Amino acid sequence: MTEVIAGKAIIADGEGRFSLESVEIDPPAAGEVRVAMAAAGVCHTDHASLRWPGPLVMGHEGAGHVEAIGEGVEGLELGQPVLLNWAIPCGHCYQCDHGATALCERTHELDVPKLGNSRTHAGGMRWRGQAIERAFHLGTFASHALVRAEAVTPLPPSLPIDAACILGCAVMTGVGSVVNVAAVALGDTVAVLGCGGVGLNVIQGARIAGARTIIAIDRVPARLEHARALGATHTLVPHEDDADHARLVVDVRALTHGRGVDHAFEATGVPALAFVPLKLARNGGNALQVSGAHGPASLELTDLFWNKRYLAPLYGDCVPRRDFPRLFDWIAQGQLELAALISHHYPIEALDRAFDDMLDGRSSKGVLRIA
Ligand SMILES: [Zn+2]
Ligand SMILES: [Zn+2]
Repeated sequence: MTEVIAGKAIIADGEGRFSLESVEIDPPAAGEVRVAMAAAGVCHTDHASLRWPGPLVMGHEGAGHVEAIGEGVEGLELGQPVLLNWAIPCGHCYQCDHGATALCERTHELDVPKLGNSRTHAGGMRWRGQAIERAFHLGTFASHALVRAEAVTPLPPSLPIDAACILGCAVMTGVGSVVNVAAVALGDTVAVLGCGGVGLNVIQGARIAGARTIIAIDRVPARLEHARALGATHTLVPHEDDADHARLVVDVRALTHGRGVDHAFEATGVPALAFVPLKLARNGGNALQVSGAHGPASLELTDLFWNKRYLAPLYGDCVPRRDFPRLFDWIAQGQLELAALISHHYPIEALDRAFDDMLDGRSSKGVLRIA
Protein backbone atom coordinates (compact mmCIF):
# COMPACT_ATOMS: atom_id res chain seq x y z
CA MET A 1 0.00 0.00 0.00
CA THR A 2 1.52 3.26 -1.05
CA GLU A 3 -1.43 5.59 -0.77
CA VAL A 4 -3.13 7.69 1.88
CA ILE A 5 -5.58 5.54 3.83
CA ALA A 6 -8.51 6.23 6.13
CA GLY A 7 -8.29 4.87 9.66
CA LYS A 8 -9.48 5.34 13.24
CA ALA A 9 -7.64 6.64 16.27
CA ILE A 10 -8.47 7.41 19.89
CA ILE A 11 -7.69 11.08 20.33
CA ALA A 12 -7.24 12.81 23.70
CA ASP A 13 -8.32 16.45 23.81
CA GLY A 14 -5.82 17.52 26.49
CA GLU A 15 -8.57 18.26 29.00
CA GLY A 16 -9.31 14.76 30.25
CA ARG A 17 -11.62 13.56 27.45
CA PHE A 18 -11.06 11.20 24.54
CA SER A 19 -12.99 9.86 21.55
CA LEU A 20 -12.60 7.44 18.65
CA GLU A 21 -12.15 9.58 15.52
CA SER A 22 -11.59 9.15 11.79
CA VAL A 23 -8.06 9.99 10.63
CA GLU A 24 -6.05 10.00 7.41
CA ILE A 25 -2.69 8.27 7.34
CA ASP A 26 0.03 8.89 4.76
CA PRO A 27 2.13 6.15 3.22
CA PRO A 28 5.45 5.74 5.05
CA ALA A 29 8.22 8.16 4.11
CA ALA A 30 11.80 6.94 3.77
CA GLY A 31 12.83 5.10 6.92
CA GLU A 32 9.25 4.67 8.16
CA VAL A 33 6.81 1.77 8.48
CA ARG A 34 3.01 1.76 8.60
CA VAL A 35 1.69 -0.88 10.98
CA ALA A 36 -1.89 -2.20 11.05
CA MET A 37 -2.43 -2.39 14.82
CA ALA A 38 -3.74 -5.64 16.31
CA ALA A 39 -3.62 -5.03 20.07
CA ALA A 40 -2.45 -2.39 22.52
CA GLY A 41 -1.76 -2.47 26.25
CA VAL A 42 -3.44 0.06 28.54
CA CYS A 43 -1.24 1.62 31.19
CA HIS A 44 -1.40 4.37 33.84
CA THR A 45 0.70 6.57 31.56
CA ASP A 46 -2.14 6.51 29.00
CA HIS A 47 -4.52 7.83 31.62
CA ALA A 48 -2.02 10.57 32.51
CA SER A 49 -1.76 11.44 28.78
CA LEU A 50 -5.41 12.61 28.80
CA ARG A 51 -4.08 15.87 30.25
CA TRP A 52 -0.99 16.26 28.08
CA PRO A 53 -1.21 19.01 25.44
CA GLY A 54 -3.79 17.82 22.94
CA PRO A 55 -5.05 16.76 20.56
CA LEU A 56 -2.97 13.59 20.75
CA VAL A 57 -3.39 10.04 19.39
CA MET A 58 -3.14 7.91 22.54
CA GLY A 59 -1.25 4.70 23.32
CA HIS A 60 2.40 3.72 23.65
CA GLU A 61 2.35 -0.11 23.86
CA GLY A 62 1.21 -2.32 21.06
CA ALA A 63 1.76 -4.84 18.31
CA GLY A 64 0.45 -5.30 14.79
CA HIS A 65 1.34 -6.30 11.26
CA VAL A 66 3.53 -4.43 8.79
CA GLU A 67 1.13 -2.87 6.28
CA ALA A 68 3.49 -0.64 4.22
CA ILE A 69 7.26 -0.16 4.17
CA GLY A 70 9.07 3.10 3.36
CA GLU A 71 12.12 3.47 1.18
CA GLY A 72 15.41 2.26 2.62
CA VAL A 73 13.87 0.07 5.35
CA GLU A 74 15.46 -3.36 5.44
CA GLY A 75 14.64 -6.62 7.16
CA LEU A 76 10.84 -6.29 7.25
CA GLU A 77 8.17 -7.98 5.17
CA LEU A 78 4.57 -7.02 4.50
CA GLY A 79 2.24 -8.81 6.91
CA GLN A 80 4.99 -9.55 9.39
CA PRO A 81 3.94 -9.34 13.07
CA VAL A 82 5.85 -6.63 14.92
CA LEU A 83 6.14 -5.15 18.39
CA LEU A 84 6.27 -1.38 18.80
CA ASN A 85 8.75 0.16 21.19
CA TRP A 86 8.42 3.74 22.48
CA ALA A 87 12.08 4.34 23.39
CA ILE A 88 13.14 4.41 19.75
CA PRO A 89 16.91 4.16 19.15
CA CYS A 90 18.17 6.30 16.26
CA GLY A 91 21.49 4.45 16.31
CA HIS A 92 23.69 7.49 15.84
CA CYS A 93 23.32 10.04 18.63
CA TYR A 94 25.58 10.39 21.69
CA GLN A 95 23.44 8.10 23.89
CA CYS A 96 22.95 5.43 21.20
CA ASP A 97 26.71 5.46 20.53
CA HIS A 98 27.27 4.77 24.24
CA GLY A 99 24.80 1.90 24.42
CA ALA A 100 22.09 3.81 26.28
CA THR A 101 19.54 3.59 23.49
CA ALA A 102 16.57 4.10 25.83
CA LEU A 103 17.89 7.65 26.32
CA CYS A 104 18.20 8.32 22.56
CA GLU A 105 18.57 12.07 22.08
CA ARG A 106 16.85 12.05 18.72
CA THR A 107 13.75 10.35 20.07
CA HIS A 108 13.44 12.33 23.28
CA GLU A 109 14.07 15.66 21.53
CA LEU A 110 12.53 14.69 18.24
CA ASP A 111 11.92 18.26 17.12
CA VAL A 112 15.60 19.21 17.30
CA PRO A 113 16.31 19.80 13.59
CA LYS A 114 20.08 19.35 13.85
CA LEU A 115 19.48 15.68 14.59
CA GLY A 116 18.13 15.29 11.08
CA ASN A 117 14.61 13.91 11.35
CA SER A 118 12.78 13.12 8.16
CA ARG A 119 9.72 14.75 9.71
CA THR A 120 8.35 15.54 13.14
CA HIS A 121 6.19 13.11 15.06
CA ALA A 122 3.10 15.05 13.99
CA GLY A 123 3.74 14.41 10.32
CA GLY A 124 1.95 11.77 8.31
CA MET A 125 -1.38 11.57 10.16
CA ARG A 126 -4.25 14.06 9.96
CA TRP A 127 -7.42 14.63 11.94
CA ARG A 128 -9.96 17.16 10.63
CA GLY A 129 -7.36 18.18 8.06
CA GLN A 130 -4.67 19.04 10.65
CA ALA A 131 -1.47 17.10 11.36
CA ILE A 132 -1.83 15.29 14.69
CA GLU A 133 0.80 14.14 17.18
CA ARG A 134 1.01 10.59 18.48
CA ALA A 135 1.87 9.64 22.06
CA PHE A 136 5.54 8.61 22.33
CA HIS A 137 5.83 8.89 18.51
CA LEU A 138 3.65 5.75 18.27
CA GLY A 139 -0.06 6.29 19.01
CA THR A 140 -1.01 2.63 19.39
CA PHE A 141 -4.74 3.17 20.17
CA ALA A 142 -5.43 3.40 16.45
CA SER A 143 -6.11 1.26 13.42
CA HIS A 144 -2.64 2.15 12.10
CA ALA A 145 0.61 3.49 13.49
CA LEU A 146 3.05 5.36 11.25
CA VAL A 147 6.45 5.02 12.90
CA ARG A 148 10.19 5.16 12.29
CA ALA A 149 11.50 1.71 11.40
CA GLU A 150 13.69 1.70 14.52
CA ALA A 151 10.49 1.55 16.62
CA VAL A 152 9.64 -1.87 15.21
CA THR A 153 10.86 -5.29 16.39
CA PRO A 154 9.80 -8.42 14.46
CA LEU A 155 7.78 -10.83 16.63
CA PRO A 156 8.13 -14.61 16.47
CA PRO A 157 4.98 -15.87 14.67
CA SER A 158 4.42 -18.36 17.51
CA LEU A 159 3.81 -15.57 20.02
CA PRO A 160 0.11 -14.56 20.36
CA ILE A 161 0.00 -10.92 19.30
CA ASP A 162 -2.63 -9.88 21.84
CA ALA A 163 -0.28 -10.96 24.65
CA ALA A 164 2.96 -9.81 23.01
CA CYS A 165 1.60 -6.25 22.81
CA ILE A 166 2.45 -5.65 26.50
CA LEU A 167 6.15 -6.48 26.13
CA GLY A 168 7.03 -2.91 25.18
CA CYS A 169 6.24 -1.36 28.55
CA ALA A 170 5.68 -3.06 31.93
CA VAL A 171 7.47 -6.31 31.03
CA MET A 172 10.57 -4.60 29.62
CA THR A 173 10.68 -2.09 32.50
CA GLY A 174 10.39 -4.72 35.23
CA VAL A 175 12.57 -7.47 33.77
CA GLY A 176 15.10 -5.03 32.29
CA SER A 177 15.57 -3.18 35.60
CA VAL A 178 16.48 -6.52 37.19
CA VAL A 179 18.77 -8.00 34.55
CA ASN A 180 20.23 -4.89 32.86
CA VAL A 181 20.40 -2.33 35.66
CA ALA A 182 20.55 -4.04 39.07
CA ALA A 183 22.27 -7.05 37.45
CA VAL A 184 20.71 -9.45 39.97
CA ALA A 185 22.92 -12.53 40.17
CA LEU A 186 22.35 -16.18 41.04
CA GLY A 187 21.64 -16.49 44.77
CA ASP A 188 20.90 -12.77 45.37
CA THR A 189 18.10 -11.48 47.57
CA VAL A 190 15.43 -9.10 46.25
CA ALA A 191 12.51 -7.11 47.69
CA VAL A 192 9.75 -5.53 45.57
CA LEU A 193 7.45 -2.84 46.92
CA GLY A 194 4.25 -2.89 44.84
CA CYS A 195 3.00 -5.85 42.81
CA GLY A 196 1.26 -4.23 39.84
CA GLY A 197 2.35 -4.60 36.21
CA VAL A 198 5.95 -3.48 36.72
CA GLY A 199 6.41 -5.09 40.16
CA LEU A 200 5.22 -8.51 38.93
CA ASN A 201 7.78 -8.32 36.14
CA VAL A 202 10.53 -7.40 38.59
CA ILE A 203 9.56 -10.63 40.37
CA GLN A 204 9.66 -12.63 37.13
CA GLY A 205 13.03 -11.11 36.22
CA ALA A 206 14.45 -11.89 39.67
CA ARG A 207 13.28 -15.50 39.40
CA ILE A 208 14.84 -15.87 35.93
CA ALA A 209 18.08 -14.31 37.22
CA GLY A 210 18.20 -16.99 39.94
CA ALA A 211 17.50 -14.88 43.03
CA ARG A 212 17.12 -17.19 46.04
CA THR A 213 14.88 -14.89 48.06
CA ILE A 214 12.22 -12.71 46.43
CA ILE A 215 10.10 -10.72 48.89
CA ALA A 216 6.87 -9.25 47.48
CA ILE A 217 5.29 -6.38 49.44
CA ASP A 218 1.76 -5.10 48.75
CA ARG A 219 -1.40 -4.10 50.60
CA VAL A 220 -3.68 -6.17 48.33
CA PRO A 221 -3.75 -9.92 49.14
CA ALA A 222 -4.79 -10.89 45.58
CA ARG A 223 -1.70 -9.16 44.18
CA LEU A 224 0.51 -11.04 46.64
CA GLU A 225 -1.04 -14.32 45.47
CA HIS A 226 -0.24 -13.33 41.89
CA ALA A 227 3.32 -12.46 43.00
CA ARG A 228 3.76 -15.91 44.52
CA ALA A 229 2.52 -17.58 41.36
CA LEU A 230 5.12 -15.65 39.35
CA GLY A 231 8.06 -16.42 41.64
CA ALA A 232 7.94 -14.53 44.96
CA THR A 233 9.34 -16.72 47.75
CA HIS A 234 7.91 -14.56 50.56
CA THR A 235 5.09 -12.02 50.83
CA LEU A 236 4.64 -9.15 53.29
CA VAL A 237 1.71 -6.83 53.94
CA PRO A 238 2.93 -3.43 55.22
CA HIS A 239 1.85 -2.53 58.76
CA GLU A 240 -0.88 0.11 59.13
CA ASP A 241 0.94 2.18 61.77
CA ASP A 242 4.38 2.20 60.22
CA ALA A 243 4.85 5.71 58.81
CA ASP A 244 8.66 5.53 58.94
CA HIS A 245 8.66 1.93 57.58
CA ALA A 246 10.69 0.73 60.59
CA ARG A 247 8.53 -2.38 61.04
CA LEU A 248 8.76 -3.24 57.35
CA VAL A 249 12.55 -2.98 57.61
CA VAL A 250 12.49 -5.39 60.58
CA ASP A 251 10.35 -7.85 58.56
CA VAL A 252 12.66 -7.73 55.52
CA ARG A 253 15.79 -8.10 57.63
CA ALA A 254 14.26 -11.10 59.39
CA LEU A 255 14.14 -12.83 55.99
CA THR A 256 17.72 -11.86 55.03
CA HIS A 257 19.91 -12.82 58.00
CA GLY A 258 19.39 -9.42 59.60
CA ARG A 259 21.14 -7.65 56.74
CA GLY A 260 18.60 -6.33 54.23
CA VAL A 261 18.28 -7.38 50.59
CA ASP A 262 20.91 -7.11 47.86
CA HIS A 263 18.41 -5.30 45.60
CA ALA A 264 15.25 -3.41 46.67
CA PHE A 265 12.77 -2.09 44.08
CA GLU A 266 9.95 0.45 44.41
CA ALA A 267 7.18 -0.23 41.87
CA THR A 268 4.15 1.49 43.43
CA GLY A 269 4.06 4.81 41.59
CA VAL A 270 3.62 6.55 44.96
CA PRO A 271 6.22 9.36 45.27
CA ALA A 272 6.30 9.13 49.10
CA LEU A 273 7.59 5.55 48.79
CA ALA A 274 10.32 6.29 46.24
CA PHE A 275 13.16 6.18 48.79
CA VAL A 276 11.93 3.23 50.89
CA PRO A 277 14.15 0.81 48.90
CA LEU A 278 17.18 2.54 50.50
CA LYS A 279 15.92 1.33 53.89
CA LEU A 280 15.32 -2.23 52.68
CA ALA A 281 18.67 -2.69 50.88
CA ARG A 282 21.73 -4.01 52.72
CA ASN A 283 24.85 -1.89 53.08
CA GLY A 284 26.49 -1.72 49.64
CA GLY A 285 23.23 -2.86 48.05
CA ASN A 286 21.07 -1.45 45.24
CA ALA A 287 17.90 0.60 45.69
CA LEU A 288 15.87 1.21 42.55
CA GLN A 289 12.81 3.31 41.78
CA VAL A 290 11.26 1.70 38.69
CA SER A 291 7.67 2.95 38.85
CA GLY A 292 8.31 6.31 37.19
CA ALA A 293 6.64 8.06 40.15
CA HIS A 294 6.53 11.84 39.77
CA GLY A 295 6.45 14.55 42.44
CA PRO A 296 8.32 15.52 45.60
CA ALA A 297 9.57 12.93 48.10
CA SER A 298 11.70 13.52 51.17
CA LEU A 299 14.92 11.68 51.78
CA GLU A 300 16.88 10.96 54.96
CA LEU A 301 20.45 11.40 53.69
CA THR A 302 21.85 8.79 56.07
CA ASP A 303 19.78 6.22 54.14
CA LEU A 304 22.33 6.72 51.33
CA PHE A 305 25.30 5.98 53.60
CA TRP A 306 27.20 2.70 53.64
CA ASN A 307 27.79 2.58 49.90
CA LYS A 308 24.18 2.15 48.88
CA ARG A 309 23.36 2.93 45.24
CA TYR A 310 20.11 4.63 44.25
CA LEU A 311 19.02 4.22 40.63
CA ALA A 312 15.96 5.34 38.67
CA PRO A 313 16.34 3.53 35.32
CA LEU A 314 14.20 4.44 32.33
CA TYR A 315 12.41 1.50 30.70
CA GLY A 316 14.77 -1.12 32.15
CA ASP A 317 17.63 0.38 30.10
CA CYS A 318 16.10 -1.31 27.06
CA VAL A 319 18.30 -2.01 24.04
CA PRO A 320 15.64 -3.47 21.73
CA ARG A 321 17.86 -5.67 19.56
CA ARG A 322 19.57 -7.13 22.63
CA ASP A 323 16.61 -7.40 24.97
CA PHE A 324 13.52 -8.39 22.96
CA PRO A 325 14.99 -11.58 21.44
CA ARG A 326 15.95 -12.60 24.98
CA LEU A 327 12.39 -11.95 26.23
CA PHE A 328 10.97 -13.94 23.29
CA ASP A 329 13.19 -16.92 24.17
CA TRP A 330 12.23 -16.79 27.84
CA ILE A 331 8.55 -16.78 26.85
CA ALA A 332 9.05 -19.75 24.48
CA GLN A 333 10.88 -21.65 27.23
CA GLY A 334 8.05 -21.02 29.71
CA GLN A 335 10.23 -18.90 31.99
CA LEU A 336 8.49 -15.59 31.37
CA GLU A 337 4.70 -15.48 31.77
CA LEU A 338 2.77 -13.12 29.54
CA ALA A 339 -0.81 -14.34 29.38
CA ALA A 340 -1.07 -14.60 33.19
CA LEU A 341 -0.30 -10.88 33.46
CA ILE A 342 -3.28 -9.85 31.32
CA SER A 343 -6.54 -9.91 33.22
CA HIS A 344 -8.85 -8.20 30.70
CA HIS A 345 -9.29 -7.73 26.94
CA TYR A 346 -11.51 -4.97 25.52
CA PRO A 347 -12.63 -3.77 22.09
CA ILE A 348 -11.08 -0.42 21.14
CA GLU A 349 -14.47 1.23 21.74
CA ALA A 350 -14.29 0.30 25.45
CA LEU A 351 -11.23 2.29 26.56
CA ASP A 352 -13.37 4.04 29.20
CA ARG A 353 -14.13 0.64 30.79
CA ALA A 354 -10.46 -0.34 30.60
CA PHE A 355 -9.51 2.85 32.44
CA ASP A 356 -12.23 2.30 35.11
CA ASP A 357 -11.08 -1.29 35.74
CA MET A 358 -7.46 -0.17 35.95
CA LEU A 359 -8.11 2.77 38.28
CA ASP A 360 -10.39 0.75 40.58
CA GLY A 361 -7.83 -2.07 40.81
CA ARG A 362 -10.09 -4.68 39.11
CA SER A 363 -7.62 -5.35 36.28
CA SER A 364 -3.94 -6.18 36.62
CA LYS A 365 -3.35 -5.41 32.94
CA GLY A 366 -5.89 -4.57 30.24
CA VAL A 367 -5.39 -4.96 26.50
CA LEU A 368 -7.38 -3.33 23.67
CA ARG A 369 -8.08 -5.67 20.76
CA ILE A 370 -7.95 -3.54 17.64
CA ALA A 371 -8.07 -6.06 14.80
ZN1 LIG B 1 19.89 7.91 19.37
ZN1 LIG C 1 3.12 1.82 29.68
